[in-house]
Amino acid sequence: MSNPSLPTAYVEAVTALLGPAETEAFLASYDAPRTYGLRFNTLKIPPSSPAAGKLAELFALRPVPWCGTGYYYEESTRPGKHPYHAAGLYYIQEPSAMSAVELLDPQPGQTVLDLAAAPGGKTTQIAAKMAGQGLLISNEIHPQRARILAENVERLGIRNAVVTQAPPPALSARFPLAFDRIMLDAPCSGEGMFRKDPDAISEWSPEAVELCAARQWDILQDAVAMLKPGGRLAYSTCTFNRRENEDTIARLLAEYPFLRLIAEKRIWPHREQGEGHYVALIERDHDEKTPAISAAIANREGADAVRRGGRERNRKRGARSGPSERSPATAWDSFRAWAADELPAFAPPAGGTPLLFGEALYLLPASGGLALTPEHLTGLKVPRAGLHLGDVRKGRFEPAHALAMALSANEAAPRLWTLDAESPLVAAYLRGETLEVPASLRGWHLVTVACGDDQYPLGWGKASGGQLKNHLPKGLRH
Ligand code: SAM
Repeated sequence: MSNPSLPTAYVEAVTALLGPAETEAFLASYDAPRTYGLRFNTLKIPPSSPAAGKLAELFALRPVPWCGTGYYYEESTRPGKHPYHAAGLYYIQEPSAMSAVELLDPQPGQTVLDLAAAPGGKTTQIAAKMAGQGLLISNEIHPQRARILAENVERLGIRNAVVTQAPPPALSARFPLAFDRIMLDAPCSGEGMFRKDPDAISEWSPEAVELCAARQWDILQDAVAMLKPGGRLAYSTCTFNRRENEDTIARLLAEYPFLRLIAEKRIWPHREQGEGHYVALIERDHDEKTPAISAAIANREGADAVRRGGRERNRKRGARSGPSERSPATAWDSFRAWAADELPAFAPPAGGTPLLFGEALYLLPASGGLALTPEHLTGLKVPRAGLHLGDVRKGRFEPAHALAMALSANEAAPRLWTLDAESPLVAAYLRGETLEVPASLRGWHLVTVACGDDQYPLGWGKASGGQLKNHLPKGLRH
């Protein structure tokens, strides 16, 4: 990006932060190329696996210093277009954006919330760190973006995430003091993205910064209401603006004396290889008294109204909201019978609760600290209530794409149909075409792509009469 026309007020604010000499170096960074990053999905490929070695070679990867699973890639290698992307082996993520979850450091078995989660960079990073254990609630307020979030959660084979689509007050009314870790990657004025996305410049104004700061403050209060005593909150933005960063955090610490700042980090594009980013890590006291929290929640005017309004809207639109009142036991039996025949090596994650949304059967993850029940989800829009196992139609079980993506090749063996990454058949499958197979092949098969010594799922196919019918969801075909 050369000669950007940056707003004067923006340059003045940066100069106030950096001083005139360093501002020159900062402005010069707009003429340097932007950085490109991807992060390995360790749910599928451990960093030292042969597959990881193959990816390093294919995409000319170089390590991101602040993230052990993050790498810079060469733009010309286009990993976003490769079948390994469709297989969920990695997530394309701006390198600086990888810093916040590293600081939050969620652990397996914890109860974690990602409050503003779409399209899913931080959620997929959190899920990798949780290694399938514990509960992750990934929330996104906007319906279209929540759908993309759910797709990314599925592509990366995440089993223990519930995707909700709710305004933050609706969640804080349901989940007070519930989470060990909360990620709030707040909507912001996007100053740190000007180099990557010059369109963001035209949307910037001092008034927009103030609007963002006000919204961030609102969302932060809901986040605090949901944080357990002893829990940690990471607040991040992709802006340089003090109003949205340090000033907002200073106000938070002043108004909630049971919070303390553990760390604060900024990434500047002229100092490090990445776009602009800010993250603050906050911890809540272990032994504070709860009435203060209850009062804080009670003061969140409108939370209940929002909840009621949401229910009303859901009813009007006929949207799927909350679990079905039909018993999931029959659907679960139907899944078990199907899996015994088709996936004998697969054991569903332990402790989950089967849940029916219409004809869709989900496995709500076991939640360790939080006793998450189907009732918690009643009245909420839930694009994904845990692992989508499949749909029961007219008494027959049909496996879900999400289940395909969450399986390892070992769990699906011997029902595998494996393609080479370079084969034109991979592209044909991803376009939704039927594949020719030996006539002896019958029933559900996991279509996989080979990488290193292993195979990774792309989706389902159903074989009969020498043809493998394509079961890739229509919205994912390209
Ligand atoms: N964490 C995401 C990731 O790593 O892929 C990026 C999140 S983006 C910076 C901020 C998100 O906040 C957007 O998806 C936006 O739709 C959402 N958002 C906007 N207004 C919101 C609000 N009032 N409450 C909660 N989230 C909001």
